[in-house]
Amino acid sequence: MKEKRIILIGAGLAGSLLAVYLAKRGFYVDIYERRPNMRTTKISAGRSINLALSLRGLHALQGVGLDQDILKIAIPMKGRLIHAPEGALNFIPYGNNDTEVIYSVSRGQLNMAMMDLAEGYDRVKIYFNKRCTGINFTTGEAEIFDETTGETSCVKAGTVIGTDGSASAIRYDMMKIGRFNYSQSYLEHGYKELSIPAGPGGKFLIEKNALHIWPRKTYMLIALPNLDGSFTCTLFFPMEGGVSFASLNTKEKVRRFFDEQFTDAVPLMPTLIEDFFSNPTSSLMTVKCFPWHVGHTASLLGDAAHAIVPFFGQGMNCSFEDCVVLDECVGRYGDDWEKIFSEYEALRKINTDAIADLAVENFYEMRDLVADPAFILKKKIEHVLEEKFPDRFVPKYSMVTFRRMPYSIALSRGKIQDTILSELAFGKSNVNEIDWNKAEKLVNEKLEKLI
Ligand SMILES: Cc1cc2nc3c(=O)[nH]c(=O)nc-3n(C[C@H](O)[C@H](O)[C@H](O)COP(=O)(O)OP(=O)(O)OC[C@H]3O[C@@H](n4cnc5c(N)ncnc54)[C@H](O)[C@@H]3O)c2cc1C
Repeated sequence: MKEKRIILIGAGLAGSLLAVYLAKRGFYVDIYERRPNMRTTKISAGRSINLALSLRGLHALQGVGLDQDILKIAIPMKGRLIHAPEGALNFIPYGNNDTEVIYSVSRGQLNMAMMDLAEGYDRVKIYFNKRCTGINFTTGEAEIFDETTGETSCVKAGTVIGTDGSASAIRYDMMKIGRFNYSQSYLEHGYKELSIPAGPGGKFLIEKNALHIWPRKTYMLIALPNLDGSFTCTLFFPMEGGVSFASLNTKEKVRRFFDEQFTDAVPLMPTLIEDFFSNPTSSLMTVKCFPWHVGHTASLLGDAAHAIVPFFGQGMNCSFEDCVVLDECVGRYGDDWEKIFSEYEALRKINTDAIADLAVENFYEMRDLVADPAFILKKKIEHVLEEKFPDRFVPKYSMVTFRRMPYSIALSRGKIQDTILSELAFGKSNVNEIDWNKAEKLVNEKLEKLI
């Protein structure tokens, strides 16, 4: 019988999970990864050291039996803990029950666990320090540059999947063959990682089981817990302008700014100034492209196909969901890659576009959380509507995070729900003033029952 072989470019989060799915289907998988092996060489895992894992990602991990292992190294976050400028705290639970939580997990540990699982299959081989520099879409040959020897060679499997992240080399070559739609849009904000170290004996110095947010209207700071008691903080901040990364250019300015804006966080950040000036300032962008595949020869998956901004905590979750959908297509079409890629792309593109848009919207929601009374009133109404009409009204955040409905449906229902909330909140300042009969009528008229 013909050996079924596939090449993956990139052994990041999506590539290593996809390898496991393909190995389970009987494929031989060769993965070429540009970085050294992070299990034997100490390297920074790349962007953001911890990530929020939620239902969609967990479901994908469950598909290969990895969910319980990962949950052991994850910290549940039950809601957002909002830090007001004067230090007041306000806890907003994510869901209405204890199961609606998201998990803070180390990117590195997750990636390593998936590589271990992938290499547990004889059919999977990961080649490190091997950077893909190009692909021939006619022959399915990938050009590989060896980062240690400086030599270039060609590898051939007939089918290549680019799981090489937001700056994908495979996508870059797809652009060159024409009739390829591509858009890349930067947010005016970038980000920088900072940290809150653990207290004595690995003590968590702020609430462990929450995602902390310091929303400040045009920017925000967030913090996610790590197993060792520390928190990884991310400052989302304008790149240019009056208050921006560009303007905070001296130690004194940074210190003064943080003292004024993040009063309760500063005493917990002993390396603030050092971190601020030594950690990189990174950009945030959305990448959309189409088509994702070239015949049976190549396709894109994960950030390579759709890089999104991180404000819904869905980039990885969505990439993992890609793996599940691709695997289902393999289940239907065996090794007919043209059919597999066509169907996978048709099923996913509409949904990855939707989560890309939702993620940008959510940035504005997160940073306005405490500042805008109209927004807070709508959140309160939303909470009541969810309790009164659980089979019709599910907040957008919950549809994305705690359900596996297509993102496109979460987007369209979310828009309808926003109009209902605006209509009910119009001219009102308190949740007690809401006309609940009108609410019932609107919900029943505008929202179909969820199945
Ligand atoms: C600040 C920030 C916070 C985030 N927070 C969350 C979150 O809370 N929850 C969430 O779900 N998502 C989050 N994300 C998104 C998440 O990180 C990505 O969606 C996810 O990493 C995508 O996985 P991937 O495997 O497609 O890409 P990557 O993880 O980027 O992996 C790509 C791999 O390909 C390798 N590679 C690249 N080019 C080549 C090449 N030419 N040849 C060979 N190998 C190559 C890279 O070294 C890497 O190992 C966040 C992103 C950022 C920037």
